Amino acid sequence: MRILFVTSEAYPLIKTGGLADVSGSLPAAIAEMGEDIRILIPGYPLVLEKLINPRVLASISDLPVINSVTIISGEMPETKVPVLAINCPSLYQRAGGPYVDTNGVDWGDNALRFGILSKIAAILGTSNSYIQDWIPDIVHCNDWQSALTPAYLKFMGVEHAKSVVSIHNMAFQGCFPSNWLSQLELPYSCYQMNGLEYYGQISFLKAGLYYCDVITTVSPTYAKEIQTENYGFGMQGLLSHRSHEIHGILNGIDIHEWDPSKDHYLDTHYSHKSLDKKREVKQSLQKQLDLTVDNDAPLLGIVSRLTYQKGLDMFLSVAEKILKQGCQIALLGSGEKKLEDGFIALKMKYPDKVSINIGYNEPLSHAIMAGSDLFIMPSRFEPCGLNQMYGLRYGTPPVVTNTGGLADSIRDTTPESISKHEATGFVMDNVSEQGLLSSIQRALGYYENKEIWRGIQLNGMRKDLSWKKSAREYLAIYKTLLAK
Ligand code: ADP
Repeated sequence: MRILFVTSEAYPLIKTGGLADVSGSLPAAIAEMGEDIRILIPGYPLVLEKLINPRVLASISDLPVINSVTIISGEMPETKVPVLAINCPSLYQRAGGPYVDTNGVDWGDNALRFGILSKIAAILGTSNSYIQDWIPDIVHCNDWQSALTPAYLKFMGVEHAKSVVSIHNMAFQGCFPSNWLSQLELPYSCYQMNGLEYYGQISFLKAGLYYCDVITTVSPTYAKEIQTENYGFGMQGLLSHRSHEIHGILNGIDIHEWDPSKDHYLDTHYSHKSLDKKREVKQSLQKQLDLTVDNDAPLLGIVSRLTYQKGLDMFLSVAEKILKQGCQIALLGSGEKKLEDGFIALKMKYPDKVSINIGYNEPLSHAIMAGSDLFIMPSRFEPCGLNQMYGLRYGTPPVVTNTGGLADSIRDTTPESISKHEATGFVMDNVSEQGLLSSIQRALGYYENKEIWRGIQLNGMRKDLSWKKSAREYLAIYKTLLAK
């Protein structure tokens, strides 16, 4: 089977969030199962710099607005999964992030930048493919950035390649003014409710969900949630109409990258067999972050985008109460200014107990995951979430809301789940400041009991969080599609 995996980010080439982690790991797991999978990604500066064995493979012309691009083929570092990078300096060679400029403002031509990504994915899916002898059977698109691909496949009359769209987050829908329709060379006939029109604009995500052959999302609970008004972000109607074609597959994690017994970002390593050493990691984190070195102070870790979705405004509201109970807080993240400022003000008030790092920092994210006692993740919605699973792997039980992938990956601590050795974290029964506060207090109560606490840590550390099971489920979907 030949699979083209289309994505706007893939770790370790380029990462802004969970999509990159998935795009780094899932293709590798599928390749390990013997399938021929290639990643298609925009050639941002970091991608071209980090690609292994890059060489020019093809040139594609007659594209909307920009005429032509070259395709650079290479390999992912470490996993060696083949990569096709789109080399188009006018679109992708810029300072700033994949989606925003250096001031954090969306690039004004994102419709074109990701329209071209989608168009090229569709061109590579045609029978006169530009890559000799390599025509995909499956084109697997991810989130809005590549979701225009199924529309292009349809309008270009491609019948061979089947398309899959994976939703990693419904909140991002790629909506742009309708005048992009002609610039992206899309037929006007698709600009309607049964097409890619969405409240007077065009939506890349809607295009994908409407025209693709099958939809997947990143957890079984989220697959159900997005068909309801509270989580569907306006697309619940379309999604419930296609209900039988939506599959929820829980993400795995990269168990080599996230492994406390080998983590190259840590000086001290530990595993479920040497959990006592986690204390040393906590101490060095406290030193590194200028917190009081105190093993008895429960250290609460947070690594997150600071947005409404992640619910950290609720945490900020109750943080002082938690600090007064003797806890410490280590936060790494960036996002909404009001939240950043709120956390910085908290740090000013409690300098020995609170560490706030605004920004993106891969090594520190590992150190916080390993050195903390509890991981805080009170998301209002969470398609899958990876950090809570990293928490499990690092013996750092998470406090989570009962939604999406959090509900599917964390088992609440109760007398029953403790006795069955199934307890792995603390699930809030309602999404509110009070709900969060009482869950953290409940966790702190168990933290006092070293034996039970160790049991909760070990239950999480022993879980199989690898990609194997999920990759098999994706393969089964590809095979069913091809058999149709
Ligand atoms: P989302 O994709 O919604 O942001 P996930 O939990 O699915 O949330 O994935 C977030 C990923 O991004 C994790 O790998 C997490 O460690 C990482 N991450 C988020 N913020 C930061 C940051 N400030 N520095 C380093 N890594 C971060």
